[in-house]
Amino acid sequence: SKQAGRNRVTFFTEQMGSAANARNTIEQELKTSMENRNFVLHFQPRVDLAESRVVSAEALVRWQHPERGLIMPNEFIPICEETGMIEELGQLVLEMGCEQAIAWHKSGFDIEISLNISPRQFDDERLMQSLRKYSVHPEFPSGKIELEITENVLIGDHDHIENKLEAIAQLGYRIAIDDFGTGYSNLSYISRFPLNCLKIDQSFINQLPKSGPIIDLILTLARQIGATVVAEGVETAEHLDWLADHDCEQVQGYLLSRPVPLERLESTVEQLNAK
Ligand code: C2E
Ligand code: CA
Ligand code: CA
Ligand code: CA
Repeated sequence: SKQAGRNRVTFFTEQMGSAANARNTIEQELKTSMENRNFVLHFQPRVDLAESRVVSAEALVRWQHPERGLIMPNEFIPICEETGMIEELGQLVLEMGCEQAIAWHKSGFDIEISLNISPRQFDDERLMQSLRKYSVHPEFPSGKIELEITENVLIGDHDHIENKLEAIAQLGYRIAIDDFGTGYSNLSYISRFPLNCLKIDQSFINQLPKSGPIIDLILTLARQIGATVVAEGVETAEHLDWLADHDCEQVQGYLLSRPVPLERLESTVEQLNAK
C-alpha cells in the first residue's frame, strides 16, 4: 500500500540518516583525538623457537576514546584509510614506536619492535622524512625497527617500490611483509626486494593441518630469499607443534600472549622467556 511504502521510505532514510550522522561523529572525534594524541600502542610478543625467547614485539594501535574507552583498530583503521586520516595516524604511530625503541634501548630492554605501515602511509613523503630523521638519532637502534607492509604495497611500479625499499633498508630498518599469502603481489618480484621477514597470515595457521602444504611452500620461498618466517595467529599447541616440526623460525599468537599494554610487556616477556 501507499502507506506501507511511505513508512518504508521513512524507515530507510531515518536509518541512513543516523548511520551517516554516526559516521560523521566518529570522523570528527577521530580528528580531535589525532590532535590530542589519544592513541596508545599495545605490544604482542614474537617468540623465536630455536632461541626459545621473545625477540620482538608488534606495536598495535588502540584509540583511547575520551568517553568510550579503548577502541580496537578494526573499528577505526578502515575509516582512517578511507578518509586519508591514516597518514596522520601512521605518523603518530611511527613517532610513538620510534620513541619507545629509544626508551627501551636506553633502559637496556633488548627487544625489536614492529610497526604497521599502511599502503597510503608508504606513499606519504613524511614516512621517509621521519625514517631519515630517526636514523641519525644517536640512541636510535635502526636495526631493531621493522616495518610491516602488506603485499599490496608491492603492486605497481616495481622500480619505484624497489628504490624506496632499498632506501629504507639502507637506513638500517628491517622490512617485513604482513599477511603474506593473502595479497596480490607478483611472486616473481619478491626476490628483487630487500625483505627480512615474511609473516604468514593467520588464516593459514588456523587451517592447519589442511593448509600445511601452503605453509611449507612459504617456508621454502623464505629460505630461498633469506627471509625469516613468522607464523601469526598461533592459538593452539597443535599449531605450535606443527610449526616447530617444520622449522618455522618465529611465532606470534594468543597461545603465547595477547597484545598487552606497555606496562605489562616486560613482565610478559620475562614469563615467556622463563618457559
Ligand atoms: P595485523 O597487523 O595483521 O595484526 C595482527 C592482529 O591479529 C592484531 O589485531 C592481533 O591482536 C591479532 N592477533 C594476534 N594473535 C592472534 C591470535 O592468536 N588469534 C587471533 N584471532 N588474532 C590474533 P588488532 O590489534 O585488532 O589489529 C588488527 C589490524 O589493525 C592489524 O592486523 C593491522 O592491520 C591494523 N593495525 C593495528 N595497528 C595498526 C597501526 O598502527 N597502523 C596500521 N596501519 N594498521 C594497524
Ligand atoms: Ca601486522
Ligand atoms: Ca598480519
Ligand atoms: Ca626460554
